[in-house]
Amino acid sequence: MTEVLYMEEWRGDESLQNPNYIQEFDANITKRGETFVVLDKTAFYALGGGQPSDTGTLKWEGGESRVQEVLKKGEIRHFVDTMPETEQVQGVLDWDKRYAHMKMHTAQHVLSSVVFKMFNARTAGNQVHADHSRVDFQPITFTDEDLARVEEGCNEIIRRAVPVHVYEEGRAVLGEKMADQRYILNMIPKSISRLRVVDILDVDICPCAGTHVKNTSELGKVHILERRSKGKDIDRIVYELL
Ligand SMILES: [Zn+2]
Repeated sequence: MTEVLYMEEWRGDESLQNPNYIQEFDANITKRGETFVVLDKTAFYALGGGQPSDTGTLKWEGGESRVQEVLKKGEIRHFVDTMPETEQVQGVLDWDKRYAHMKMHTAQHVLSSVVFKMFNARTAGNQVHADHSRVDFQPITFTDEDLARVEEGCNEIIRRAVPVHVYEEGRAVLGEKMADQRYILNMIPKSISRLRVVDILDVDICPCAGTHVKNTSELGKVHILERRSKGKDIDRIVYELL
């Protein structure tokens, strides 16, 4: 099993590194496929949950290869353009892109929370990209005034500079914390007793295995680009961060 470095906990202690910000790490190759390697630990995010795969570099004494995609297929596979020549490698993320995903993903939680509290509409789907992202809401048909209120609601939370904690929580405790929240815990199989939680203090709490920033102040400003109907009662919001 690969140790996933960004899944470590962070509960606001500024003297500890927030695991989402690990850009470089040392690891050993534990398996080689034809075009991929498996590592004993990684900070690369594998495609999933509406967040794209990280890309980056694996470096070794005298050479390097590009990590073009990371996929989770039972194991975490780092697809490379050339095979590393040593067992020990240093992983380096393409940080600008990853940090953009972290901001966009955190903004999605804020947006989903604001829409739920204003309109009681839930998040039906989402896709993060580095330059723009989208969230689908149901049941709702937004007016232009609604969108202006949603945008201002998000930016008010950003201005308040709210900390974002990540940790594991038992299902029962989380169920109590999430009462009246946007996310329906029953959507996660009952067999999972401990969940990885993203907690934007007093704003939103939700199970999520993605990567996020440590404070909403890092998001800049949410700007809604467009609203599109995606069928009966489903509206899509496309946004960017300025
Ligand atoms: Zn998330």
